[in-house]
Amino acid sequence: MINVTKPFLPPIQEYLEYISGIYKRTWLTNNGPLVNELEIQLRNYLGTPHLLFLTNGTVALQLAIKALDLKGEIVTTPFSYVATTSSIVWEGCKPVFADVDPLTMNISPESIERAITSDTSAILTTHVYGNPCEIDAIDVIAKKHNLKVIYDAAHCFGTTYKGKSVFQYGDISTTSFHATKLFHTIEGGAVFCNSPEILKKIAYMRNFGHDTPESFTELGINGKNSEVHAAMGLCNLKYADEILAKRKTLSDRYDFALKCLKHTKPTINQSAKFNYAYYPVILQNEEIVERIIYNLNDNQIFPRRYFYPSLNTCLPYLEKSVMPNSETLSKKVITLPLYHDLSFEEIDFISRIILRTQNN
Ligand SMILES: *Cc1c(COP(=O)(O)O)cnc(C)c1O
Repeated sequence: MINVTKPFLPPIQEYLEYISGIYKRTWLTNNGPLVNELEIQLRNYLGTPHLLFLTNGTVALQLAIKALDLKGEIVTTPFSYVATTSSIVWEGCKPVFADVDPLTMNISPESIERAITSDTSAILTTHVYGNPCEIDAIDVIAKKHNLKVIYDAAHCFGTTYKGKSVFQYGDISTTSFHATKLFHTIEGGAVFCNSPEILKKIAYMRNFGHDTPESFTELGINGKNSEVHAAMGLCNLKYADEILAKRKTLSDRYDFALKCLKHTKPTINQSAKFNYAYYPVILQNEEIVERIIYNLNDNQIFPRRYFYPSLNTCLPYLEKSVMPNSETLSKKVITLPLYHDLSFEEIDFISRIILRTQNN
């Protein structure tokens, strides 16, 4: 069976060494030494001075919205994972969708402008598939309308924009270290923020708002992560360069094997170094997408319709709206299997089935 993704696992011995240290210390969670070590190593690896390791990428989004004290409307993308939108609703704000650019599949700056009202407090959007948004244009809009910017950078481990980690942009960037992501800690996530005050606020918020065991500075929640998760991150981080390089090699192989396919791929931002986190292909129509998925499934291959359906059409807690580009793209895109130990033979096999389907 070939799934769209398969978690990277480090050699078990390397993980067990960390676990045996945890047993010796009997320190399982609450700002333990491995959590601290992982935060330091991630800062060094990513070149991001301000980062906090959290429970998951969804809590990271919720804490970001809370820490910036956002109210009213937040302009967001309909082409993302549900957590991007649901976090806005969960924090008591109203998501207002702005359509995506048909070439990049990221939010379009022109649609952001059109979606802004006197109630808008922020823009919260996703760098889809690890491809940075039009960060400079979004920055100009945010300054003009006095809005905060949060980037859901869940796909962006290893992506750079203008030579810096893409996590450095926006008032806050969040990411996910879930097992399905390029770099993972089984469950996990992080916030990145260049304001020391906001970062400090989130540091309190992730630990119930505790200042000392008996005093509190903030309203808080439990957003801490544990030593066993940090251990997995420390092991995986040693392989991050290798994982990133392999992703590119495998993507190049797909490019080669799918040369004759009638399809397009998202246009990568010119100022970015892409991390090859996913391999999306945009086909001519939904019918061909369905036939390809059917034939792949028949061969025990399970791609994902990632992201489908467009979020403006499917959430029972939101009024429906119309986002033509996002709706059309979500019907035409599939994300092909891509993970560290996928072989060239498997890529060729997958590609042959896809080509055969299109040619029939
Ligand atoms: C994975 C993902 C999330 C959620 O992260 P979790 O760590 O699973 O909570 C949020 N947004 C996007 C775009 C994602 O891909």
